[in-house]
Amino acid sequence: MAKTKKTTGTSRRKYVYSFGGGKADGRADMKDLLGGKGANLAEMAGHKDLRLPVPPGFTITTEVCTYYFTNCRKYPPGLKEQVDDALRKVEGLMDKKFGDPQNPLLVSVRSGARKSMPGMMETVLNVGLTEKTITGLIQKTNNPRFVYDAYRRLITMYSDVVMEKAAGLEPKDGKGIRSHLEGILHQFKNEKKVKEDADLSTEDFKKLSALYKAKIKEVLGKEFPDTPEEQLWGAVSAVFSSWNGKRAVSYRRIERIPDEWGTAVNVQSMAFGNMGNNSSTGVAFTRNPGSGENQFYGEYLINAQGEDVVAGIRTPAPINKYSQSDHNKHLPILEEHDRGVYRQLEDIRRRLERHYRDMQDIEFTVEEGKLFMLQCRTGKRNGLAAVRMAVEMLKEKLIGKEEVIQRVTSSQLEELLHPIIDPKAEHSAKILGKGLPAGPGGASGQIVFTSEEAVSWYKKGKQVILVREETNPEDVEGMRASKAILTSRGGMTSHAALVARGWGKCCIVGCSDIEIDLSQKLLQVNGATLKEGEWITLNGTKGRFYAGRLPMIDAAEENPWFKEFLKICDSLRRLRIRTNADTPADAAKARSFGAEGIGLFRTEHMFYGKGSEEPLFKLRKVIIARNEEERKKALKELFPYVKKDIKDTLEAMDGCPVTIRLLDPPLHEFVPHNQEQLEELAQSLKISVEELEKRAAALKETNPMMGHRGVRLGITYPEVTEMQIRAIFEAAIELIKEGQKIFPEIMIPVICSVDELKHQEEITQRIHKEVCDQYHVPKIAHFFGTMIEVPRAALTADEIAHVADFFSFGTNDLTQMGFGFSRDDIGGFLPDYLEKRILPDDPFQTLDRIGIGQLIKMAVDKGRSVKKALKVGICGEHGGDPSSIEFCHKVGMDYVSCSPYRVAIARLAAAQAVLNVPRKRKKRT
Ligand code: PEP
Ligand code: MG
Repeated sequence: MAKTKKTTGTSRRKYVYSFGGGKADGRADMKDLLGGKGANLAEMAGHKDLRLPVPPGFTITTEVCTYYFTNCRKYPPGLKEQVDDALRKVEGLMDKKFGDPQNPLLVSVRSGARKSMPGMMETVLNVGLTEKTITGLIQKTNNPRFVYDAYRRLITMYSDVVMEKAAGLEPKDGKGIRSHLEGILHQFKNEKKVKEDADLSTEDFKKLSALYKAKIKEVLGKEFPDTPEEQLWGAVSAVFSSWNGKRAVSYRRIERIPDEWGTAVNVQSMAFGNMGNNSSTGVAFTRNPGSGENQFYGEYLINAQGEDVVAGIRTPAPINKYSQSDHNKHLPILEEHDRGVYRQLEDIRRRLERHYRDMQDIEFTVEEGKLFMLQCRTGKRNGLAAVRMAVEMLKEKLIGKEEVIQRVTSSQLEELLHPIIDPKAEHSAKILGKGLPAGPGGASGQIVFTSEEAVSWYKKGKQVILVREETNPEDVEGMRASKAILTSRGGMTSHAALVARGWGKCCIVGCSDIEIDLSQKLLQVNGATLKEGEWITLNGTKGRFYAGRLPMIDAAEENPWFKEFLKICDSLRRLRIRTNADTPADAAKARSFGAEGIGLFRTEHMFYGKGSEEPLFKLRKVIIARNEEERKKALKELFPYVKKDIKDTLEAMDGCPVTIRLLDPPLHEFVPHNQEQLEELAQSLKISVEELEKRAAALKETNPMMGHRGVRLGITYPEVTEMQIRAIFEAAIELIKEGQKIFPEIMIPVICSVDELKHQEEITQRIHKEVCDQYHVPKIAHFFGTMIEVPRAALTADEIAHVADFFSFGTNDLTQMGFGFSRDDIGGFLPDYLEKRILPDDPFQTLDRIGIGQLIKMAVDKGRSVKKALKVGICGEHGGDPSSIEFCHKVGMDYVSCSPYRVAIARLAAAQAVLNVPRKRKKRT
């Protein structure tokens, strides 16, 4: 909400916040109003612990942006006066005047949203430089070359950002004004036979400015503005307009940033990094954002202005030895080039980390040996770095346990679960090329050279790697669609590196050995030629890439910070984490990720995949049996397979609880389809193929998801339940007799009425007694419970709780039957539902709290009202989704169960849920 403040006796809304000279109107916690950049500039300039050298300026609030768009691009009344007041303050602090021919003040005009949107919006530098002020600035600086260089930069940026893009002009033949001007520069350099901008003289820049202005008039039909006010307001409007530019809008969609937030505009007096060799500009991270190591890490460019570092045009130099790489080690390090400035920066690094208690990403400029801080913000980092920093900052007593857990997002943790190249395979592979390791992990994919191709190949289900000279904000969708990104130019802070890091994508930048030939759709690297569509494999951690497809392995296993981090999560969470595992191998994998039991063992999965031929053949005999006698005979043959499968899994879980669900198979899926299998089965059943086909046809259902499945099978054929219960108890008692701690939990699927459960319970008790007698034991400890996955079961949960020891919510079916959306067919209409915002998310991925959540909460409460000790968990896919896990915590479940690869995510989400939803409940076992 807007804040109002009384100023000079009249009550009016405050739209402009000043900073500079050791004071500031704003603070770091005012990001909603001032944007991230504005809020942090205020904090750096004004907070008593910092008071860093920030060039004075002011921030126009995000509210003005919202106003601007809702009022046909008009500004709120009073804004102009507030801007004028703020500008006067800056002039006072700088002892310069905006537009003064003798002593002119120049300003930068930059965007700054609540959440950083790197490179998505516009910036204009050197605003205030006109024919009149040029002379004054030359006199002041005694550096005409610098002044004319600054002028041609202003003309380029302004004509592109303000006069073309913000004015909504579509470039003719796709050639924008910027490329016209760059063409002039290129031709000029060719004629003068020079390569670098640095080789151009004052006169050259002067001539260039005149040529630029004439071109602007010719192409855009307008003069380049020559008054400081027009320049300033043009730039402010252009920055606001860029909030609704194509790039920014598409980035917001991906990052789910609401359109209503708007951007702030920061107007700040210029600090010049391009005033000669004792001037520079750079970006740095207070810790390494790629690995998390506690080392100052950054790059800078001597005699350059602001955007040059990020633009990736020149290779930036390292600030210190630690930041050196093969790529930049020939360049002078700042620590030696300007010791005083480096020491000052190190001191600022320490103070900023102590103040913000987090890694900061900073931008600085050195103007003739004087350091200025232009930006600081919490630095983006990949998963590897996020985990390491959080754990190390706890040790350094910079943050507490709770903050450690809040510092890592589930998607960052997921990055660590992403694969890396199998070191053995990598060792023997030949390196094709090297670059900077900008996004860790390994990835293989087919080469594409444009973002459009990346998106279209991705849509065809292909795995692609986008290879570009460098990326720019227009490439975001292509980058998103790619498995990894490889660029031939740019540094660790280039666009590709920033974006990839933010998304946790594998990325290598600045691989200068690559030459891309876009017309032929191929690349050449160290003598090799690779065409579009060929496979390559990237090691984004080391910055190397290889031809072909190398095998991948898990990254998390050897990472000590990952393990420590999850232990911290475990110390806070209340929910237990189980896994959905159907094979002993899955169970063992899940145990290695920290699963504390199996929440769903789908027994029918033993009939799928490798090694399933024999049990599947027996199951088919059960399904096709004509009568009880035939079925019982077939069940007897199937029994040893089922018992072995259960026994192996119980054993793999080594004393942890295992929930074994009785068969819930869609019967028709198991009927053989090919002729050979039909004949074999018919022969074994001693019936004709025609007869077999007739019986198979009788099993076909119109709506199998609501057909003869789950408990319904056990009601119709109690002998099927009997066989499974016997297998469970025999497997359990045999392992118990071997000295193992075994605790099976028998789970009945798809029930809708307590009477179904009673029917199955009677069978369970009878078989329990028989097995106990057979093995001479008084009892086999176990639980008997049910899935709650049919809405009627949720509605009658109190009745059901009389019979069940536990409930496990099958939210896949509960969502299917609650919404009436077929879980197998939702793909046909879900995209429309999401696009038209009828649904916020895919309800099969993220639990619908309002509807399905209500059923769950009611069932938990009803169940526990009858049986206080009722154990409650979830085993639908939602058990691995962070938002759904938070809900499970909130309604007081005891555990969530998810696939093995989601276990680590669930451990984190369960700990975060404790912090987001505080509750006073004891850990239940
Ligand atoms: C469920 O319905 O949520 C569930 C776990 O069972 P299945 O996916 O096997 O139907
Ligand atoms: Mg189900």
